[in-house]
Amino acid sequence: MHLGLAAAISAGVAFASWRLRALSADGAGAATLIGTTVLAALGWPGLAVLGTYFVSSTVVSRLATAARGNEGDAARETRDARQVLANGGFAAAGALAEFRAPGLGLWLATIGFAAAGGDTWATALGSLSPRPPRDLLTGRQVVAGRSGGVSWFGSSGGLLGAAMIGLAASAVGAPPRLFLAAALTGAGAMLLDSALGSGLQARFRCESCGEETELRRHGCGRTTTLVRGIRWLDNDAVNALASGFAIAVGLALW
Ligand SMILES: [Zn+2]
Repeated sequence: MHLGLAAAISAGVAFASWRLRALSADGAGAATLIGTTVLAALGWPGLAVLGTYFVSSTVVSRLATAARGNEGDAARETRDARQVLANGGFAAAGALAEFRAPGLGLWLATIGFAAAGGDTWATALGSLSPRPPRDLLTGRQVVAGRSGGVSWFGSSGGLLGAAMIGLAASAVGAPPRLFLAAALTGAGAMLLDSALGSGLQARFRCESCGEETELRRHGCGRTTTLVRGIRWLDNDAVNALASGFAIAVGLALW
């Protein structure tokens, strides 16, 4: 696709997302960069894959928020540049492989977005799970939304989300086995995401209210101290690692 058209489509969608508060201003900038890369490298099939990822992720997150009846959560679903790059950066880099080997860029980008979409679907549907999630590594019940927690509801949703993106690619001419590769790699990335979230992700304790949090700065505005995990390994870093893993597996499967 012509670079100008790729940039125009991406900027238009990013602008609309910013208006709808699905993206922050810097998040919209990052999304424009990722969209332009993917569309310029992959053309219309890339638009089908990226569009399926974007629309399905946005819709499932919003529906889950509405179903929980907690509209105040909508603000927390505004993605910033760090989140956007953590989820889509590797997929966009993978798309560039199209210039070296025709077909490889679509293959890698599909698998990368399947991993990111699977994670979003798993988080959204997991939040609606009728039973509390269990920690993937310890098996203990944990509060919903905690990293590392898994439920059948969330995991099935994640597999479905990843499969849908593989299906979109196959529908626009990618080899049918990409559907399988995307679904399986997406599921593998989801497991890695939960394992890292349970075992290594940073957890902090708020100095003011004593609550445990995954955020460096607690919602109450006070600073926190590290109680376990690796300081820099936050949810975005875990997502980026899972998505890099998906791209590496995708390359091996090519
Ligand atoms: Zn606090």
